[in-house]
Amino acid sequence: MTRYFAVAILLIGGVLTSGSMAADSIRVSTDFPGGSATVVEIDQKTATIEIQPNVLVDRGWPCWWFLRIDGLTTGQTVTLKVSANPKPYRAKSVLSASWMQPDRAVYSNDESDRSSWRQTGKCQREGEVATYQFEASSATMWVAWGVPFLPSDAERLLDVVSHRLPGSERFELARTRGGRPVPGIRIGGGTADKPARFGIWVQARQHAWESGGSWVGRGFIDWASSDDADAVALREIATIHYVPIMDVDCVSIGAGGKDATPRDHNRDWSDEPVYPEVAAAQKLICRLDQARRFDVFLDLHNPGPNEQRPYFFGPDNLNELPALQQQNHARWLAIAQEEIAGPLPLLKEYMFATYVKTEEERGRMSANWVRNHTSPHVLSTTLETAWNTPHSQPDGYSAVGRQLAQTVFRYLTGRTREAQP
Ligand SMILES: [Zn+2]
Repeated sequence: MTRYFAVAILLIGGVLTSGSMAADSIRVSTDFPGGSATVVEIDQKTATIEIQPNVLVDRGWPCWWFLRIDGLTTGQTVTLKVSANPKPYRAKSVLSASWMQPDRAVYSNDESDRSSWRQTGKCQREGEVATYQFEASSATMWVAWGVPFLPSDAERLLDVVSHRLPGSERFELARTRGGRPVPGIRIGGGTADKPARFGIWVQARQHAWESGGSWVGRGFIDWASSDDADAVALREIATIHYVPIMDVDCVSIGAGGKDATPRDHNRDWSDEPVYPEVAAAQKLICRLDQARRFDVFLDLHNPGPNEQRPYFFGPDNLNELPALQQQNHARWLAIAQEEIAGPLPLLKEYMFATYVKTEEERGRMSANWVRNHTSPHVLSTTLETAWNTPHSQPDGYSAVGRQLAQTVFRYLTGRTREAQP
C-alpha cells in the first residue's frame, strides 16, 4: 500500500513536471542517475520552484535531492525552495528538514563536469522552508544538495588511477541486490621481491546520501596513487583496497540509504549480511587479516548538519581494548590531528556513537565488526567529514582525503605492531 502511494505521488510529480506546458516553460526532471525531487509548485513568472526530496519507501532517509531544470533564460535568477517531504520513508518515520537543507546548495550548467559546480549563497530559512537563489548561466541548470558523486564518477576515477598505475588491479567487489556492479581497485602491494607487509581498506557511501564521503575517498586514492615520494613509499609497503561507493543501488536511484529496510549498509555487518557487497567486503578483509596483511580500515561518512569539523568515531570500549590497540589509537589520533589541519580541521578528540543503544547493533557497524573480527593491532575507524560548510565541496573534501592518506603513511611507517612470526 505504501509503495503504491509512493508511486502515485511520483506520477503526480511527473505530470507537474512535464504535463502540457509550453516547450519554453520551466520544467524539472529527475530521470537520470541520482535524480531525486518531487515538485510541489513552479511559478513560471518568477522562476520559483518548490521541491521536496523523493520518498522512496524502505530505501532510507529522504534527504538527498538532485534535479535538472530546463526552459530557463540566461541571466535569470532562479529561486529554489526546499522543504521536507511529509511522507514516512519507513513505517511512521518522517525525516526532519535540517538534513535536506544545507546552508548552501550546489548548481551547475554542465552536470558531467564536476569542476563546474558552485555553491549558492547562504539560504534563507523561513519556518520549515529553505530558499536558495542562483543565476541561470544557460537554459538548462542542475541543482543538488551537494556535488554528486555517482557510479559514473567512480568509473572515471578508477580509470584514471588504473592508467596511472599499470600494476594496479580493478575488481568487482560484488553485484548488488539490484544487479549493479560495485567496483573497486587494489593498488600498491610492493614488488615480487619485496611484497608489501601492510594492508589498508578504504570505502565510502555505506550511506548513499553522504556524497562527501566519496569525495574524501577520491582525495585519498588520488594522493595514494600519485608520484609524491611518500605516496610511492606507501605503495611499496602497503596494499590498498579502495571502494568508492558501497551502496551503489541507492546512489543510483537517488535514495538516501540511511535507515533503509530491513537495515542500512552500516548496520549490516553481521554473520548474515543482507547486502552482497557487505558480505564480499567482510570475506576479503578476513582473508587479508588471516594472511597477516591487514592493518587499517577506514569507513568514510558525512555527519549531522550542525557538525562543522571532521571527526573520527572511536571505539566505545577504547579503555578496555588491548594495550597495543590503545597505543595504536593514541598514535593515530595524534598524527591525524597534525595532518588533517585545514581547510576542514579535525576535531581533537574521538566522538562516540552513543546513540546506538544495544551491543548487538553496535556489533553490526562496520568499523566495530572489523575490529571484532581481525587481529588486535588493526586500527578500524569511521571518519565523519562535515558537509555543511563552504569547504564541503570536492576541493575541501579531497584535501581531507589526501591528509587522511598521509596520516596512514605516517602511522604505518612509525607504528606499533605485534611481533611478526
Ligand atoms: Zn553515514
